Amino acid sequence: MDFQSYWLLALPVFFGLGWLAARVDIRHLLMESRTLPASYFKGLNFLLNEQPDKAIEAFIEVARAEQQTIELHFALGSLFRRRGEVDRATRMHQTLVERTDLSAEQRTAALYELAQDYLKAGLLDRAEALFQDLRKTDYSESALRHLLDIYVTEKDWQKAIGAAEDLEKATGDSLRSEIANFHCELAAREYSHSRLEEARAQIAAALDAHRKCVRANVMLGGWAQREGQHEEAVAIWKRIESQAPEYLFLIAQPLIDSMRVLGRTPEALTLLGGWLQRYPALDLLGVVFQATLEVQGPDAALRLVREELHRSPSLGALDKFLEAQLGLVAPDQRADFQLMRDLVHAHSSRLSLYQCSQCGFKARAFHWHCPACGGWDTYPARRNAEGEPGTAAARGSM
Ligand SMILES: [Zn+2]
Repeated sequence: MDFQSYWLLALPVFFGLGWLAARVDIRHLLMESRTLPASYFKGLNFLLNEQPDKAIEAFIEVARAEQQTIELHFALGSLFRRRGEVDRATRMHQTLVERTDLSAEQRTAALYELAQDYLKAGLLDRAEALFQDLRKTDYSESALRHLLDIYVTEKDWQKAIGAAEDLEKATGDSLRSEIANFHCELAAREYSHSRLEEARAQIAAALDAHRKCVRANVMLGGWAQREGQHEEAVAIWKRIESQAPEYLFLIAQPLIDSMRVLGRTPEALTLLGGWLQRYPALDLLGVVFQATLEVQGPDAALRLVREELHRSPSLGALDKFLEAQLGLVAPDQRADFQLMRDLVHAHSSRLSLYQCSQCGFKARAFHWHCPACGGWDTYPARRNAEGEPGTAAARGSM
């Protein structure tokens, strides 16, 4: 009985407390809402109804009316840039930069946003100037990264080298491969202007920056060959074996050509045959197969390719095997072999692509600089079709 009367007393008290709490909450909300302009709620309403364009207009109204909403200005500015409305973003950030009531931190943030607007608009000179200023601030690392991208876009390799070296110091991350490639770009430019001494100095600098820069030796050997210095070309290209042997396929054909001029074709075949044994790869097989076919005839070529097919089975090797068979089959079987070879060849060519390890972009030709993501040395030395389990690539990488 006592228990029931206790509850009869307690219930109205709880109801009263609940009513009071609700009143306090509602009053608090009302107070807050009175400090925000109506456009703010209009904007929110448009956002909730998935009408972003109308929402933005409403928020712009808020930003115009309520000058103290600095964060809203920042948010709108970066939203405009993301939507590709770079002019609007630039105006927003310029207005912020010019304001006198911003803290030093907010002003730097506005400058960083403005620099990104310029970058997106393609105004690289202005972006560069701002990022240079930002190097003295908390944004120094990001500014350096942007500067490096700008110099690469402008092909200003000397400045790119400087920015990459500064970035290495700032982050501790190695950019040796990139720096060596920038030196190679400079070397190519010097060579195209017939400044051979300067070109060679840049190649030396590339190898100095990154001992394993294969590209430097590929280029240097190529120049020697063009100048008729075949002995020198061969000696340079041979160095790639100790740098990164998986890239030997890049110089296999020119090496055979130079050794042919020197009257050393059999020696070239032995050298390349040895490389193929030690570093099996489809591109290398293609060159050795062709040279064997020309020098030693179809039987020797077939022996070579059959051995390779058994050792490293792959679609590409099968393609070469059928090509070799085609030269040897009886005339009445030729049509069948041709059909088989054409089918395998079409399939293998479709699959045999170089693929950027950074962005996945596929290309028929090998690239030092990815045309899609701008990465340097991001293409592995092997084509896609070789990467299947049990194939040359899988064995070669062990
Ligand atoms: Zn890429």
